[in-house]
Amino acid sequence: MFNKYYSTIFIIHTPSALRASPPQGGGEGRGKNMKKLIIDFDSTLVKVEALDELAERALVEHRDRDALVTEIKKITELGMNGEISFPESLSRRIKLIQTTREVVAEVADCIKEKISYSVLNNLDFFKENKDNIFIISGGFKDLIFPTAEILGIHPANILANDFIFDNEGNLIGVDNDNLMAQENGKVNQLKILNLEGELIMVGDGWTDYQTKEFGVVDKFIAYTENVSRETVVKKADVVAKDFKEVIEFVTSY
Ligand SMILES: [Mg+2]
Repeated sequence: MFNKYYSTIFIIHTPSALRASPPQGGGEGRGKNMKKLIIDFDSTLVKVEALDELAERALVEHRDRDALVTEIKKITELGMNGEISFPESLSRRIKLIQTTREVVAEVADCIKEKISYSVLNNLDFFKENKDNIFIISGGFKDLIFPTAEILGIHPANILANDFIFDNEGNLIGVDNDNLMAQENGKVNQLKILNLEGELIMVGDGWTDYQTKEFGVVDKFIAYTENVSRETVVKKADVVAKDFKEVIEFVTSY
């Protein structure tokens, strides 16, 4: 269904920069002749980790703040070391961040002020190519939307997690049915979407590289403007220290 929808969009818009070289074999449709950028959110499009920002803001007046922040960091670490699963790590952290829909919205508005410098300097590229740009994140849509709006990225092109709130607006959990809340979320989400064209993943983290490792994208660009992780950089097809270098790469062939 997604594919059908997007192919229709491609016929209407003809974004220039992300059009790939003409196919050699012929017989490929326009959708297949497009490059698509799949971009990580935390520490890539924005300078920060959104969930950390939410935890800090939510717990600022909590009497056990330090203990909770330590516990949240410990759970993050357990998840990164593979000692607990990603879904468990996510749910346990969300349970500790006792907050509300209002605070989430407030933090999301702060995060949009923390867009990476070179991304802000290339807003035109995002707007011209918005149909071929996706955000993929183990973070949460509610924390991403205001930033995506500035970049002009369609809400439908944001692949991320969903918070669950109760009727009073209290944050009570994570939607575990969402693929992004599950193990190998980025890989499985891209597999299911089955986008046409050449897929180029841009990100700073190991799960971003894994999309290339598992063959669901064609190229992986390690993005080092905010964080440079040696293990990730080593595996990259290309290393970009800012978004200008991403654009130079995708328009170079
Ligand atoms: Mg990241």
